[in-house]
Amino acid sequence: MSIADNLKKYKSEVESDGVKLIAVSKTQTVETILEAYNAGQRIFGENHVQEMVDKQAELPADIEWHLIGHLQSNKVKYIAPFVKLIHGVDSLKLLQEINKQALKNKRVIDCLLQVYIADEDTKFGLDFDEVIELLRSDEYAELKNIRIVGLMGIATNTKNEKQITVEFQELKVLFDGIKVSFFRKEDSFKEISTGMSADYKIAIEEGSTMVRIGSAIFGKRIIKHFKADSAN
Ligand SMILES: *Cc1c(COP(=O)(O)O)cnc(C)c1O
Repeated sequence: MSIADNLKKYKSEVESDGVKLIAVSKTQTVETILEAYNAGQRIFGENHVQEMVDKQAELPADIEWHLIGHLQSNKVKYIAPFVKLIHGVDSLKLLQEINKQALKNKRVIDCLLQVYIADEDTKFGLDFDEVIELLRSDEYAELKNIRIVGLMGIATNTKNEKQITVEFQELKVLFDGIKVSFFRKEDSFKEISTGMSADYKIAIEEGSTMVRIGSAIFGKRIIKHFKADSAN
């Protein structure tokens, strides 16, 4: 199947469940992204700052760019003018820097807090206590140019569907608790970004509102990056 066919298939499948499709275009060329764009896709996810900046400059202005990977504070300034949603916020320090750069650009930038749900050592994210601590802090209360619109999580890379299900359920429980405790009056706090090519079906069953699908749409990624861009 072509990229356009894949795109249409996944888009209609997830949207029929009321879920947004983030087409993860990391390592894909501008031409490839345009194929998906011309098939109707407008939301693209990238995990390297420089790669996203380069692509944004070359592609149509109505694309929503989502930064889905780990973000270093010193790179925020490059994406602050245009980024639509930052999925991987995992510290107060990063949130403060996003706020500072958003203010410079006279914007409010939407963010998701990345929560650590996987049974792996390598993944970034806050644990449940750290999420609560951050939201309770005076420093967070001062930030007027960021808006936290939900949570993001990455499940363990395993074939054990029961385990993946439990991890997504735990994130949903945390989300519901936080919604009541901190965002009861804010309709904008409504997003759960979980699910990738291998586990998006489970994610949607367990309450995901945005799935991040790459290889199922574009095919297996080549290891080489779009442009020289080693440290994100
Ligand atoms: C690469 C990536 C994805 C997409 O992964 P696929 O398995 O290709 O669908 C989703 N989320 C994050 C954070 C990623 O880095």
